[in-house]
Amino acid sequence: MKTKIYDLTDKSIYDEAIKQAALAVKKGGVVVFPTETVYGIGADAFNVEAIHKIFQAKNRPLDNPLIVHFADKKDINLAASNISDNALKVSEKFMPGPITIVCHKQKNIPSCVTACLDTVAVRVPMRESARDLIRACQTPLVAPSANISGKPSPTAPEHVIEDMNGKVDVILIEGRCDVGLESTVVDFTSGEKARILRPGGVTPEQLKQIILLEDSYKPVKQLSVNETPKAPGMKYKHYKPNAKVVCLMGDEKKIVDYINNRTALENNLTAAAVFEHLKEKISCDYVFSLGNKDIPQEAGNLLFYNLRKADEVHAGIIFVMCTDYKGIGLAYHNRLEKASDEIITF
Ligand code: AMP
Ligand code: MG
Repeated sequence: MKTKIYDLTDKSIYDEAIKQAALAVKKGGVVVFPTETVYGIGADAFNVEAIHKIFQAKNRPLDNPLIVHFADKKDINLAASNISDNALKVSEKFMPGPITIVCHKQKNIPSCVTACLDTVAVRVPMRESARDLIRACQTPLVAPSANISGKPSPTAPEHVIEDMNGKVDVILIEGRCDVGLESTVVDFTSGEKARILRPGGVTPEQLKQIILLEDSYKPVKQLSVNETPKAPGMKYKHYKPNAKVVCLMGDEKKIVDYINNRTALENNLTAAAVFEHLKEKISCDYVFSLGNKDIPQEAGNLLFYNLRKADEVHAGIIFVMCTDYKGIGLAYHNRLEKASDEIITF
């Protein structure tokens, strides 16, 4: 398939690009577009044939439900029914933004959207262009991340083009994504308290200020140096680059020594993603930044980006430092844990 690629940062073609992408959606096509979390691959939420094209392009398992994206929160009841007071509170406060709420579904939502569940996930993205696109389509869009399933989600134009060029009708690019990690998914359909199914851009601390939250989301137990490298919850390939990923937690000095000692023994090209202030102490072939340690949003924004950079430079292994669990750190941790072949705590 010939994919049309438009760069939305060129304001002279912005309107035409949105128009062409919307036209493709209306014809039952599939388009890639930027959001504040990661790049998404979208299709008309009511067109079953178009939705199947998303599963095909991504090679996504059919039992993984899709999030329905709206331009405006007043429209979410087109997909969701009996929205609870708590869900409404959260949508009032955090939509548009990196939050997805799981509610009971409207009958007309196709079962391929919800993987046959009687609930549906809905979200209103923050990125202006994403909402302009949805408005122009005159229909909500289902839109999972625009990566081949199993790979790190794309947060930069070059990464989304690598995965989706030739597989979709239109790709809209617009620089790097703002958050760089997927939305927080919160379930409002089971019990009195809401439950975080996936941590993301909106933090548990922020949610707890307005609703009761079950403390159900727990990071996977950390392994120390000599324990079995595979942690539970890593059964399915998720967010993984081709390079082997080693997640490192704890004492900074010990982490630096470990990276340098192990690098000396490696036959492959090595890469490391470390906080900015440690970069010059690392002896890997490629050293990427995770930004300022005191601003965890920077690490969140750079995680998927760096995992993909490791593949771009053909590194055989990438060492990645972990943040603590606070704020966005929980989401960072969750993605890195799933991407990792080894997790080592010092
Ligand atoms: P993504 O692949 O980033 O689009 O994420 C979609 C995720 O949203 C899925 O993997 C689920 O974790 C979650 N999700 C979507 N729909 C539902 C639903 N009806 N119930 C529970 N989780 C859902
Ligand atoms: Mg995804």
